[in-house]
Amino acid sequence: MTCTHWDGDTVNGYWLCAKCFAKLQDRPRRYHMSGVEGGDVPPRQEVTLAPVAKADGTTLAQFVHAMALRLIARTGGSFDKADALEYAIEILRTFSEPFGSDDLDWTSAGAWELVDEDLQHWDADESASN
Ligand SMILES: [Zn+2]
Repeated sequence: MTCTHWDGDTVNGYWLCAKCFAKLQDRPRRYHMSGVEGGDVPPRQEVTLAPVAKADGTTLAQFVHAMALRLIARTGGSFDKADALEYAIEILRTFSEPFGSDDLDWTSAGAWELVDEDLQHWDADESASN
């Protein structure tokens, strides 16, 4: 699967797509020419960087970090920061809701809720195996 989405945010050292949560090595950029041929200023190439995704006043990176911190707190530190970030992204992928969709709460309270909901499944798995 190749991600051709545009907005996202830098998480854990890579660019995370806000739509499909693909991890890209570099922040997407577009090149375009400014100025007109034969105008006063010679045309030159300009670069536009992909915009940072924001929803409910939270950037994607802030949201994923809020989830990661919640994970660390709820599991008594059994995740390190990088693992918690990766796991937070896995949770987001299971919802397959693009960042900023109307169906989820994208505040830090919403981030905690997603994590708490996921951890409930852990408890259920544990009691099922007992
Ligand atoms: Zn994408």
